[in-house]
Amino acid sequence: MLKARMCMREIREYHSPLSAPTINLRLDMNESTTGCSPRVLDRLRRMDARSLALYPPRENGEQLVAEFLGVNANQVLLTNGADEGIDLLCRAYLEPESEIIIIVPTFAMYEVFAQMEGAKILRIPTGPEHSFPVQKVIDAVNSRTRMIVICNPNNPTGLAVERSCISRVIEAAPDAAILLDEAYFDFSGDTMIDQIGAMPNLFIARTFSKAYGLAGIRMGVLIGEKEQISILRRIASPFNVNTVALAALEEALADRQFVAGYVAQVCASREWLQNELHRLNFKCWPSRTNFLLCRFGEPKKTILEALRARGISLRDRPDCEGCVRITIGTQEEMERLIKELELVVSSLPSVPQVVR
Ligand code: PMP
Repeated sequence: MLKARMCMREIREYHSPLSAPTINLRLDMNESTTGCSPRVLDRLRRMDARSLALYPPRENGEQLVAEFLGVNANQVLLTNGADEGIDLLCRAYLEPESEIIIIVPTFAMYEVFAQMEGAKILRIPTGPEHSFPVQKVIDAVNSRTRMIVICNPNNPTGLAVERSCISRVIEAAPDAAILLDEAYFDFSGDTMIDQIGAMPNLFIARTFSKAYGLAGIRMGVLIGEKEQISILRRIASPFNVNTVALAALEEALADRQFVAGYVAQVCASREWLQNELHRLNFKCWPSRTNFLLCRFGEPKKTILEALRARGISLRDRPDCEGCVRITIGTQEEMERLIKELELVVSSLPSVPQVVR
């Protein structure tokens, strides 16, 4: 009988919550609810058959992204979403018997890709209030540690990790690849990109899926020291990013105003939503992203189901007790969410007690 690799047997299938057609306000995937720059759409409409007939050249896009980021083109690799960058790093640096350290709760795909390489996963729980457990991470480093992932700001907590903590981890594990996942950088503004080249084991992943509203296009970038990036280039497909995505990228990078406006709008509606959730007695963590982690507590399942019945999907986070993750949309969308949530809460047998 045909059998997949041993390491695959432990991997659970990823069930994206996207399917239900009755949902008309999707706040569970941290996507942009308003979409990309109109300039990107215009550009895509102007594409012709000839450009689609050719294999995509990645180099021009890499040059543009490098200029945008203030690094050299040989320090960047465009990827099919940040997901591919994470996968490539795991493939390049992990092997059976090696170890990867991740801080949980966090983004699910690190484990999936690491498991595919047969690596041992060391999960370090976040500290009080989901703070970054810097000393525990450093203490966990040993001669088998080949990779450490720091998601900054972290998904699903939304919290930022202090720069000094990140530096300490990078310095404590010079023989491990440090993946700093900056998927939500556009909302937080915090980055270690200035350390690329200076810290040879540092890699940064970014994505155009969030602030740029291009999750459906699949475009990400991995940034690192040139020798390491050239190793990754050897194993990446030469045509991993497609022509449509490259055209979108070029136009998206040229329209900086669009992203700045979107980020400002998200931060304002996030602030509003957080205050409203507090008013309803729900605890939230201070987020630097386009989502909020919120504790619904014991009635979580009932609330999630009732909201779904009203067309709104939030993300259940069973890895954070009683919590859900809410993508930030427009002010109007957030007002609709609060209105529906108030109705749902008022029909609960008891008013939620805030758990601090
Ligand atoms: N990293 C983090 C922390 C994310 O939240 C996501 C998407 N949810 C990704 C990476 C993957 O992004 P992409 O769509 O570019 O593959």
